[in-house]
Amino acid sequence: MALGVYVHLPFCPYLCPYCDFAKWPYRASAAEHYLGALAAELDSCPRRQAATIFLGGGTPNTYDAARLVALIGRLREHFPALTAEPEVSIEVNPELVRFEDLAAYRKAGVTRLSIGVQSFDRMEIRMLGRRHTPRDIEDAVHSARRAKIPSVSIDLIFAVPGQNAATWRRTLDRATTLGVDHISAYALTVEEGTPYAAMREKEPERFLNDSAEAELYEIAMERLEAAGYEQYEISNFARPGHRCAHNENYWANGEYIGIGVGAASYLEGVRSTHTRSLEAYTEASLTGRPIPGESERLEGAARVGEAIMLALRTSQGVRLASFKERYGIDVRTKYSGSIGEYTALGLMESTEGFVRLTRSGRLVANEICAAFLEAPSFA
Ligand code: SF4
Repeated sequence: MALGVYVHLPFCPYLCPYCDFAKWPYRASAAEHYLGALAAELDSCPRRQAATIFLGGGTPNTYDAARLVALIGRLREHFPALTAEPEVSIEVNPELVRFEDLAAYRKAGVTRLSIGVQSFDRMEIRMLGRRHTPRDIEDAVHSARRAKIPSVSIDLIFAVPGQNAATWRRTLDRATTLGVDHISAYALTVEEGTPYAAMREKEPERFLNDSAEAELYEIAMERLEAAGYEQYEISNFARPGHRCAHNENYWANGEYIGIGVGAASYLEGVRSTHTRSLEAYTEASLTGRPIPGESERLEGAARVGEAIMLALRTSQGVRLASFKERYGIDVRTKYSGSIGEYTALGLMESTEGFVRLTRSGRLVANEICAAFLEAPSFA
Protein backbone atom coordinates (compact mmCIF):
# COMPACT_ATOMS: atom_id res chain seq x y z
CA MET A 1 0.00 0.00 0.00
CA ALA A 2 1.23 3.53 -0.78
CA LEU A 3 2.89 5.41 2.07
CA GLY A 4 2.86 9.18 2.54
CA VAL A 5 5.49 10.98 4.59
CA TYR A 6 4.68 14.27 6.32
CA VAL A 7 7.32 16.45 7.99
CA HIS A 8 6.25 19.31 10.25
CA LEU A 9 8.37 22.47 10.23
CA PRO A 10 6.71 24.58 12.93
CA PHE A 11 8.39 27.98 12.75
CA CYS A 12 6.72 31.06 11.31
CA PRO A 13 7.89 34.63 10.71
CA TYR A 14 4.86 35.80 12.78
CA LEU A 15 1.78 34.13 14.22
CA CYS A 16 -1.67 34.49 12.69
CA PRO A 17 -4.59 35.04 15.10
CA TYR A 18 -6.78 32.25 13.70
CA CYS A 19 -4.09 29.57 13.61
CA ASP A 20 -4.38 26.45 15.73
CA PHE A 21 -1.41 24.52 14.30
CA ALA A 22 1.68 23.54 16.28
CA LYS A 23 3.77 26.64 15.51
CA TRP A 24 6.24 29.05 17.10
CA PRO A 25 7.81 32.33 16.06
CA TYR A 26 11.08 31.74 14.23
CA ARG A 27 14.26 31.81 16.31
CA ALA A 28 17.42 30.66 14.58
CA SER A 29 18.77 28.64 17.51
CA ALA A 30 15.48 26.82 18.18
CA ALA A 31 14.99 26.17 14.46
CA GLU A 32 18.47 24.68 14.16
CA HIS A 33 18.00 22.53 17.25
CA TYR A 34 14.71 21.29 15.82
CA LEU A 35 16.38 20.12 12.61
CA GLY A 36 18.63 17.93 14.75
CA ALA A 37 15.56 16.43 16.43
CA LEU A 38 13.93 15.77 13.06
CA ALA A 39 17.06 14.03 11.81
CA ALA A 40 17.15 11.84 14.93
CA GLU A 41 13.49 10.90 14.53
CA LEU A 42 14.00 10.17 10.84
CA ASP A 43 16.87 7.80 11.67
CA SER A 44 14.54 5.85 13.96
CA CYS A 45 11.74 5.55 11.36
CA PRO A 46 11.22 2.29 9.47
CA ARG A 47 12.79 2.42 6.01
CA ARG A 48 9.97 2.06 3.50
CA GLN A 49 9.21 3.12 -0.02
CA ALA A 50 7.04 6.24 -0.12
CA ALA A 51 4.73 7.57 -2.79
CA THR A 52 4.68 11.15 -1.52
CA ILE A 53 6.60 13.51 0.76
CA PHE A 54 5.02 16.67 2.18
CA LEU A 55 6.86 19.43 4.05
CA GLY A 56 4.23 21.44 5.93
CA GLY A 57 4.09 23.83 8.81
CA GLY A 58 4.37 26.30 10.25
CA THR A 59 6.14 27.99 7.43
CA PRO A 60 8.78 25.68 5.95
CA ASN A 61 10.44 28.50 4.01
CA THR A 62 11.45 30.31 7.19
CA TYR A 63 14.39 27.88 6.78
CA ASP A 64 16.92 28.80 4.13
CA ALA A 65 16.90 26.80 0.93
CA ALA A 66 20.15 24.94 1.69
CA ARG A 67 18.68 23.45 4.88
CA LEU A 68 15.43 22.47 3.17
CA VAL A 69 17.30 20.90 0.26
CA ALA A 70 19.44 18.88 2.70
CA LEU A 71 16.29 17.73 4.55
CA ILE A 72 14.57 16.69 1.32
CA GLY A 73 17.70 14.77 0.33
CA ARG A 74 17.69 12.86 3.65
CA LEU A 75 14.00 12.09 3.32
CA ARG A 76 14.32 10.84 -0.23
CA GLU A 77 17.20 8.62 0.77
CA HIS A 78 15.35 7.19 3.78
CA PHE A 79 12.06 6.72 1.91
CA PRO A 80 12.98 5.67 -1.62
CA ALA A 81 10.38 6.56 -4.22
CA LEU A 82 7.86 4.17 -5.68
CA THR A 83 7.93 6.02 -8.99
CA ALA A 84 10.53 7.80 -11.10
CA GLU A 85 9.32 11.20 -9.92
CA PRO A 86 7.50 11.02 -6.58
CA GLU A 87 5.26 13.87 -5.48
CA VAL A 88 7.26 16.13 -3.15
CA SER A 89 5.31 19.14 -1.82
CA ILE A 90 6.39 22.12 0.19
CA GLU A 91 4.28 24.84 1.79
CA VAL A 92 5.52 28.42 1.60
CA ASN A 93 4.50 31.89 2.68
CA PRO A 94 4.44 34.14 -0.41
CA GLU A 95 6.41 37.08 1.00
CA LEU A 96 9.40 34.83 1.71
CA VAL A 97 9.53 33.25 -1.75
CA ARG A 98 12.66 33.85 -3.85
CA PHE A 99 13.19 32.47 -7.33
CA GLU A 100 16.66 31.08 -6.46
CA ASP A 101 15.19 29.10 -3.56
CA LEU A 102 12.43 27.63 -5.73
CA ALA A 103 15.00 26.61 -8.35
CA ALA A 104 16.97 24.84 -5.59
CA TYR A 105 13.81 23.07 -4.32
CA ARG A 106 13.05 21.93 -7.85
CA LYS A 107 16.54 20.52 -8.28
CA ALA A 108 16.07 18.62 -5.00
CA GLY A 109 12.92 16.99 -6.43
CA VAL A 110 10.07 19.27 -5.32
CA THR A 111 7.08 18.84 -7.64
CA ARG A 112 4.38 20.85 -5.82
CA LEU A 113 4.45 24.28 -4.25
CA SER A 114 1.59 25.12 -1.90
CA ILE A 115 1.38 28.86 -1.30
CA GLY A 116 -0.41 30.25 1.78
CA VAL A 117 -2.36 32.98 -0.03
CA GLN A 118 -5.67 33.06 1.92
CA SER A 119 -7.02 36.09 0.01
CA PHE A 120 -6.14 38.62 -2.69
CA ASP A 121 -7.99 41.36 -0.81
CA ARG A 122 -5.64 43.60 1.17
CA MET A 123 -8.13 44.15 4.01
CA GLU A 124 -8.82 40.43 4.39
CA ILE A 125 -5.11 39.59 4.27
CA ARG A 126 -4.57 42.03 7.14
CA MET A 127 -7.64 40.75 8.97
CA LEU A 128 -6.07 37.29 8.90
CA GLY A 129 -2.86 38.73 10.33
CA ARG A 130 -0.85 37.94 7.20
CA ARG A 131 1.83 40.30 5.95
CA HIS A 132 2.05 39.59 2.24
CA THR A 133 0.62 41.71 -0.55
CA PRO A 134 -1.28 40.62 -3.68
CA ARG A 135 1.89 41.47 -5.60
CA ASP A 136 3.90 38.99 -3.45
CA ILE A 137 1.43 36.27 -4.42
CA GLU A 138 1.73 37.00 -8.13
CA ASP A 139 5.52 37.14 -7.92
CA ALA A 140 5.60 33.79 -6.06
CA VAL A 141 3.44 32.09 -8.70
CA HIS A 142 5.49 33.54 -11.57
CA SER A 143 8.74 32.49 -9.87
CA ALA A 144 7.39 28.96 -9.42
CA ARG A 145 6.61 28.84 -13.14
CA ARG A 146 10.11 30.06 -14.01
CA ALA A 147 11.61 27.47 -11.66
CA LYS A 148 9.56 24.84 -13.55
CA ILE A 149 7.79 23.48 -10.50
CA PRO A 150 5.19 21.20 -12.11
CA SER A 151 2.21 21.96 -9.81
CA VAL A 152 1.44 25.25 -8.13
CA SER A 153 -1.30 25.30 -5.52
CA ILE A 154 -2.73 28.08 -3.40
CA ASP A 155 -4.72 28.00 -0.17
CA LEU A 156 -7.67 30.36 0.21
CA ILE A 157 -9.90 31.07 3.22
CA PHE A 158 -13.53 32.17 3.07
CA ALA A 159 -15.92 33.46 5.74
CA VAL A 160 -13.27 35.92 6.90
CA PRO A 161 -14.71 38.81 8.98
CA GLY A 162 -15.50 41.65 6.60
CA GLN A 163 -15.60 39.42 3.53
CA ASN A 164 -18.58 39.45 1.20
CA ALA A 165 -19.63 37.75 -2.03
CA ALA A 166 -18.03 40.48 -4.18
CA THR A 167 -14.60 40.37 -2.49
CA TRP A 168 -14.63 36.55 -2.51
CA ARG A 169 -15.49 36.48 -6.23
CA ARG A 170 -12.60 38.85 -6.90
CA THR A 171 -10.19 36.63 -4.96
CA LEU A 172 -11.34 33.53 -6.87
CA ASP A 173 -11.07 35.34 -10.18
CA ARG A 174 -7.54 36.53 -9.45
CA ALA A 175 -6.55 33.00 -8.50
CA THR A 176 -7.95 31.48 -11.69
CA THR A 177 -6.55 34.28 -13.87
CA LEU A 178 -3.11 33.60 -12.44
CA GLY A 179 -3.62 30.06 -13.74
CA VAL A 180 -2.58 28.13 -10.64
CA ASP A 181 -3.00 24.36 -10.98
CA HIS A 182 -4.71 23.66 -7.69
CA ILE A 183 -6.80 25.61 -5.19
CA SER A 184 -7.72 24.64 -1.64
CA ALA A 185 -10.61 26.74 -0.29
CA TYR A 186 -11.30 26.35 3.42
CA ALA A 187 -13.98 27.98 5.53
CA LEU A 188 -12.49 29.88 8.45
CA THR A 189 -12.82 27.84 11.60
CA VAL A 190 -12.49 29.60 14.92
CA GLU A 191 -10.61 27.29 17.25
CA GLU A 192 -10.81 27.57 21.02
CA GLY A 193 -7.82 29.24 22.62
CA THR A 194 -6.86 31.34 19.57
CA PRO A 195 -6.99 35.17 19.49
CA TYR A 196 -9.85 34.81 17.01
CA ALA A 197 -11.89 32.90 19.59
CA ALA A 198 -11.47 35.82 22.02
CA MET A 199 -12.45 38.27 19.27
CA ARG A 200 -15.60 36.29 18.43
CA GLU A 201 -16.51 36.24 22.10
CA LYS A 202 -16.33 40.04 22.24
CA GLU A 203 -17.63 40.92 18.79
CA PRO A 204 -19.65 37.99 17.42
CA GLU A 205 -21.32 40.26 14.85
CA ARG A 206 -18.04 40.51 12.93
CA PHE A 207 -18.18 36.81 12.03
CA LEU A 208 -20.25 35.38 9.18
CA ASN A 209 -23.22 33.16 9.99
CA ASP A 210 -23.77 29.69 8.50
CA SER A 211 -25.92 30.84 5.61
CA ALA A 212 -23.45 33.56 4.56
CA GLU A 213 -20.65 30.99 4.75
CA ALA A 214 -22.66 28.51 2.66
CA GLU A 215 -23.26 31.20 0.05
CA LEU A 216 -19.51 31.81 -0.28
CA TYR A 217 -18.86 28.08 -0.56
CA GLU A 218 -21.44 27.80 -3.35
CA ILE A 219 -19.76 30.69 -5.14
CA ALA A 220 -16.40 28.88 -4.92
CA MET A 221 -17.83 25.64 -6.30
CA GLU A 222 -19.52 27.41 -9.22
CA ARG A 223 -16.69 29.79 -10.08
CA LEU A 224 -13.90 27.22 -9.91
CA GLU A 225 -15.82 24.61 -11.84
CA ALA A 226 -16.57 27.18 -14.55
CA ALA A 227 -12.85 28.01 -14.72
CA GLY A 228 -11.94 24.35 -15.39
CA TYR A 229 -11.10 23.15 -11.88
CA GLU A 230 -12.51 19.79 -10.82
CA GLN A 231 -13.75 19.67 -7.23
CA TYR A 232 -12.22 16.36 -6.17
CA GLU A 233 -12.72 16.86 -2.44
CA ILE A 234 -14.86 19.11 -0.26
CA SER A 235 -12.21 21.85 -0.07
CA ASN A 236 -9.95 20.98 -3.00
CA PHE A 237 -10.10 21.86 -6.68
CA ALA A 238 -7.60 20.87 -9.36
CA ARG A 239 -6.95 21.26 -13.03
CA PRO A 240 -6.65 17.88 -14.80
CA GLY A 241 -3.55 16.02 -13.65
CA HIS A 242 -2.91 18.25 -10.63
CA ARG A 243 -4.68 16.56 -7.71
CA CYS A 244 -2.61 16.30 -4.54
CA ALA A 245 -1.65 12.61 -4.29
CA HIS A 246 -0.47 13.06 -0.70
CA ASN A 247 -3.90 14.17 0.47
CA GLU A 248 -5.69 11.62 -1.71
CA ASN A 249 -3.83 8.96 0.26
CA TYR A 250 -5.27 10.38 3.53
CA TRP A 251 -8.80 10.29 2.17
CA ALA A 252 -8.29 6.72 0.95
CA ASN A 253 -7.40 5.84 4.56
CA GLY A 254 -3.89 4.98 3.38
CA GLU A 255 -0.84 4.77 5.62
CA TYR A 256 1.30 7.77 6.46
CA ILE A 257 4.19 8.62 8.73
CA GLY A 258 4.28 12.03 10.39
CA ILE A 259 7.65 13.33 11.57
CA GLY A 260 8.03 16.31 13.88
CA VAL A 261 6.24 18.04 16.71
CA GLY A 262 2.47 17.45 16.71
CA ALA A 263 2.70 15.23 13.61
CA ALA A 264 0.20 12.39 13.10
CA SER A 265 0.81 8.91 11.70
CA TYR A 266 -1.42 6.05 10.63
CA LEU A 267 0.36 2.73 10.37
CA GLU A 268 -0.98 -0.83 10.58
CA GLY A 269 -4.35 0.32 11.91
CA VAL A 270 -2.84 2.52 14.65
CA ARG A 271 -3.36 6.26 14.60
CA SER A 272 -0.84 8.20 16.68
CA THR A 273 -0.05 11.86 17.29
CA HIS A 274 3.16 13.32 18.68
CA THR A 275 3.12 15.77 21.56
CA ARG A 276 2.56 19.44 20.68
CA SER A 277 5.21 20.52 23.18
CA LEU A 278 8.30 21.64 21.29
CA GLU A 279 10.56 21.01 24.28
CA ALA A 280 9.18 17.55 25.00
CA TYR A 281 9.42 16.55 21.33
CA THR A 282 12.95 17.85 20.81
CA GLU A 283 14.27 16.43 24.04
CA ALA A 284 12.80 12.95 23.49
CA SER A 285 13.92 12.76 19.90
CA LEU A 286 17.48 13.92 20.60
CA THR A 287 17.92 11.54 23.53
CA GLY A 288 16.46 8.57 21.67
CA ARG A 289 13.47 8.18 24.02
CA PRO A 290 9.97 7.44 22.68
CA ILE A 291 8.30 10.65 21.58
CA PRO A 292 5.38 11.41 23.92
CA GLY A 293 1.94 11.51 22.39
CA GLU A 294 -1.27 9.59 21.98
CA SER A 295 -2.15 6.54 19.99
CA GLU A 296 -5.18 4.37 19.40
CA ARG A 297 -5.83 1.26 17.41
CA LEU A 298 -8.83 1.70 15.14
CA GLU A 299 -10.77 -1.51 14.83
CA GLY A 300 -14.14 -2.77 13.70
CA ALA A 301 -16.86 -0.15 13.37
CA ALA A 302 -14.56 2.71 14.39
CA ARG A 303 -12.11 1.87 11.60
CA VAL A 304 -14.83 1.54 8.96
CA GLY A 305 -16.61 4.70 10.17
CA GLU A 306 -13.39 6.66 9.86
CA ALA A 307 -12.75 5.28 6.37
CA ILE A 308 -16.30 6.19 5.26
CA MET A 309 -15.98 9.68 6.71
CA LEU A 310 -12.75 10.22 4.77
CA ALA A 311 -14.12 8.75 1.54
CA LEU A 312 -17.26 10.91 1.72
CA ARG A 313 -15.03 13.98 1.59
CA THR A 314 -14.07 13.06 -1.97
CA SER A 315 -16.21 13.68 -5.04
CA GLN A 316 -15.98 9.98 -5.91
CA GLY A 317 -17.38 9.00 -2.52
CA VAL A 318 -17.37 5.51 -1.02
CA ARG A 319 -16.39 2.81 -3.53
CA LEU A 320 -18.55 -0.09 -2.37
CA ALA A 321 -16.41 -2.88 -3.89
CA SER A 322 -13.25 -1.55 -2.18
CA PHE A 323 -14.96 -1.45 1.22
CA LYS A 324 -16.24 -4.99 0.73
CA GLU A 325 -12.75 -6.17 -0.16
CA ARG A 326 -10.85 -4.23 2.50
CA TYR A 327 -13.25 -4.35 5.45
CA GLY A 328 -15.57 -7.21 4.51
CA ILE A 329 -18.76 -5.16 4.78
CA ASP A 330 -21.56 -4.04 2.52
CA VAL A 331 -21.73 -0.32 3.27
CA ARG A 332 -25.22 0.10 1.82
CA THR A 333 -26.66 -2.59 4.10
CA LYS A 334 -24.65 -1.77 7.22
CA TYR A 335 -25.40 1.94 7.07
CA SER A 336 -28.83 1.73 5.42
CA GLY A 337 -30.37 4.00 8.08
CA SER A 338 -28.05 6.98 7.61
CA ILE A 339 -27.75 6.53 3.84
CA GLY A 340 -31.55 6.30 3.48
CA GLU A 341 -32.13 9.37 5.64
CA TYR A 342 -29.60 11.59 3.84
CA THR A 343 -30.64 10.31 0.41
CA ALA A 344 -34.27 11.24 1.15
CA LEU A 345 -33.08 14.74 2.08
CA GLY A 346 -31.17 15.04 -1.21
CA LEU A 347 -27.82 15.18 0.60
CA MET A 348 -26.49 11.78 -0.53
CA GLU A 349 -26.83 9.74 -3.69
CA SER A 350 -25.99 6.25 -4.88
CA THR A 351 -24.52 5.69 -8.32
CA GLU A 352 -23.14 2.55 -9.95
CA GLY A 353 -20.92 1.10 -7.23
CA PHE A 354 -20.59 4.32 -5.19
CA VAL A 355 -22.30 6.26 -2.41
CA ARG A 356 -21.44 9.95 -2.19
CA LEU A 357 -22.51 13.40 -1.10
CA THR A 358 -24.56 15.53 -3.47
CA ARG A 359 -23.67 19.17 -4.02
CA SER A 360 -26.12 20.14 -1.27
CA GLY A 361 -24.60 17.46 0.95
CA ARG A 362 -21.17 19.09 0.66
CA LEU A 363 -22.58 22.15 2.41
CA VAL A 364 -23.25 20.08 5.53
CA ALA A 365 -20.48 17.53 5.06
CA ASN A 366 -19.20 17.69 8.63
CA GLU A 367 -22.57 16.78 10.11
CA ILE A 368 -23.10 13.91 7.66
CA CYS A 369 -19.58 12.53 8.11
CA ALA A 370 -20.00 12.64 11.89
CA ALA A 371 -23.09 10.45 11.61
CA PHE A 372 -20.98 7.69 10.05
CA LEU A 373 -18.51 7.86 12.89
CA GLU A 374 -21.31 7.01 15.30
CA ALA A 375 -21.31 3.68 13.58
CA PRO A 376 -23.54 0.67 14.14
CA SER A 377 -21.80 -2.03 16.16
CA PHE A 378 -20.45 -4.80 13.99
CA ALA A 379 -21.36 -8.34 14.92
S1 SF4 B 1 -1.43 30.23 9.60
FE1 SF4 B 1 0.51 29.45 8.78
S2 SF4 B 1 1.86 31.27 8.81
FE2 SF4 B 1 0.15 31.74 10.17
S3 SF4 B 1 0.84 31.12 12.21
FE3 SF4 B 1 -0.27 29.38 11.33
S4 SF4 B 1 1.25 28.09 10.40
FE4 SF4 B 1 2.19 30.12 10.74
